[in-house]
Amino acid sequence: MDKLKTRILQDGKCYEGGILKVDSFINHQMDPNLMMEVAKEFSQHFGDAHINKIVTIEASGIAPAILVGYIMQLPVVFIKKKEPKTMENMLTSVVHSFTKDRSYTVCISADYLTLNDHVLFIDDFLANGNASMGVIDLCKQAGAHLEGMGFIIEKAFQKGGELLRQHGIRYKALATVESLENCEIKLR
Ligand code: 5GP
Repeated sequence: MDKLKTRILQDGKCYEGGILKVDSFINHQMDPNLMMEVAKEFSQHFGDAHINKIVTIEASGIAPAILVGYIMQLPVVFIKKKEPKTMENMLTSVVHSFTKDRSYTVCISADYLTLNDHVLFIDDFLANGNASMGVIDLCKQAGAHLEGMGFIIEKAFQKGGELLRQHGIRYKALATVESLENCEIKLR
């Protein structure tokens, strides 16, 4: 997606340890027009898949996911990163955070992820694929079918893409970062 790539090159910043900061248009301040373009791309790409639900993980996945849900006219569920006391029929999985370098438990209610669901998962980044593995686990626990995964940005120098291919998961990244070496953003 050319508009996204141009924006990453223009406004993205490299941080130590292979982190790309896109706080000015995705992760902190958001550009709703760019987000809408992103959502249109995902909706077109997965238009042939039989999906009845969009699933994302808080917090940065929520904005693109809700726009995809709006375009495809499907409900959007977000996986929570803190276990609320009030959640009923909770399913949980442990995920390691690449950016925070710690593990945490994510959860979703089995009321909103069921064996009747055909899921499209949407998130901001694909790095090592830890969050994705958590989503695969939660879908398995619920008996839900994971039809595809869409990421705004994939970092191809980390192992997430390979992991998803090994698991036979259909996925789409709208921009792929080849390298952040020497603090230079190289896109595919
Ligand atoms: P993974 O679980 O694939 O290792 O990492 C994906 C999650 O970590 C994303 O949901 C995102 O929040 C965060 N993440 C991973 N790499 C980056 C990065 O380079 N920049 C930002 N802003 N977030 C990242």
